[in-house]
Amino acid sequence: MTALLLHNLHIIDPFGEREFLDRASIVIQYGSIKFVGRGYSHVGFAGQILDMQGKTVLPGMINAHTHLYSTLAMGMPAPRNTPKNFVEILQEIWWKLDLGLDQASIKASFEAGLLDCLQNGTTTVLDHHASPNYIDGSLDLLANSAEAFGINISVCLECSDRNGTANLKDTLAENLRAMEKFRSNPYVAPLLGLHASFTLSDKSLRDISDHLNKFPDAGIHIHVAEDLADEQDAKARGYASVIQRLDHFKLLTRRTLIIHGIYITREDRHILLKRGCTLIHNPSSNANNQVGILESEIIESLHAGLGTDGMQNNMLREAREGSLIRSATSSTQIDYLKLLFKNNPDIAVKTFGRLIGHIEEEAQADLLFYDYDPRTEIHDQNFAGHLLYGFGKPTDVMTRGEFRIRNKALVKMDILRIHENSRKQSIKLWNKMTEQSS
Ligand SMILES: [Zn+2]
Repeated sequence: MTALLLHNLHIIDPFGEREFLDRASIVIQYGSIKFVGRGYSHVGFAGQILDMQGKTVLPGMINAHTHLYSTLAMGMPAPRNTPKNFVEILQEIWWKLDLGLDQASIKASFEAGLLDCLQNGTTTVLDHHASPNYIDGSLDLLANSAEAFGINISVCLECSDRNGTANLKDTLAENLRAMEKFRSNPYVAPLLGLHASFTLSDKSLRDISDHLNKFPDAGIHIHVAEDLADEQDAKARGYASVIQRLDHFKLLTRRTLIIHGIYITREDRHILLKRGCTLIHNPSSNANNQVGILESEIIESLHAGLGTDGMQNNMLREAREGSLIRSATSSTQIDYLKLLFKNNPDIAVKTFGRLIGHIEEEAQADLLFYDYDPRTEIHDQNFAGHLLYGFGKPTDVMTRGEFRIRNKALVKMDILRIHENSRKQSIKLWNKMTEQSS
């Protein structure tokens, strides 16, 4: 593959080896970064040379928890029965939406969601999928859709008792099939999806555990203690907490993703550290559902990642909203850029098994280029304020060394077709949801 030299760049990699470097060059070959720095000689360079005209480059960003299946929820009608608590939000909205999904609407959700990811500079996505009426092959559809955009994807399908035992059996089989199929695919990281402790019986957890532990280095992706109802359910079943229930069934491995964890205890935290699990914080979703706020101390001590839980695909905006929500509701502050630019790349390394999310030699060449012309001075001590309040969308997005967006235009995909189709599918889906309520 021809090498590519990009020069005349300002690099910002907030927690990387080079946090802030102007007049820089990057050399890329075979989808990876081979050189980063100043003073690269163009003389005798055999590959393609591109003058990036002073653009600012950031590493491709990582969304550590989302639901691409909910992409068509934007603007949907309010539910007929107004939910009064967290469990009713699931029953009245999300469990009606996922039941309404068919192959065509799922494909439209994936395409429109992944397009939005790319346009906002999110190049790695840890997804948690649910579609009880379209199970077999749903994770292939997700993996293939992500491949078409050049996005790294972690796939899983949520197991739950809420749609009956046959449905759970099929869902588990789809997870296991994907874990086998994608185990050596560098761009697809399969995990075993569980909805939440409170929708799974002890028998179901034992079945899942028996299968999970046949795989070397496998993990689950599960919502935990998003609301007190989850903890109350675990106690009613005779366990001290949700985490201790999952640990009892040997589901807490070093690749396990624990989502939310708002009501976990100090003892739970100790277990998560001992097992090497990853905690993911989703501030905008937690605020939207009014379920409480994850303690700053837990975020710090567990090096939590940052996800959006389906609320959006713009990670800089999620970081800003997280900061603002915490300012309004807590006496302690959190460096949300650290979650985004340090903890999330660490999680991607653990999930995909190679360097993702930094502008460094041997990292995957996932890069975002911005025409950033700030109204105030930007330097190595103040770029955080610019990232949170100044940056918009990238003009160019590269993944695996290939431009996917160049000068604001999608290189291979047709935006008009994707949006025309997703609008059509959204109407169909919303009608199906309304039918379930009547
Ligand atoms: Zn979620």
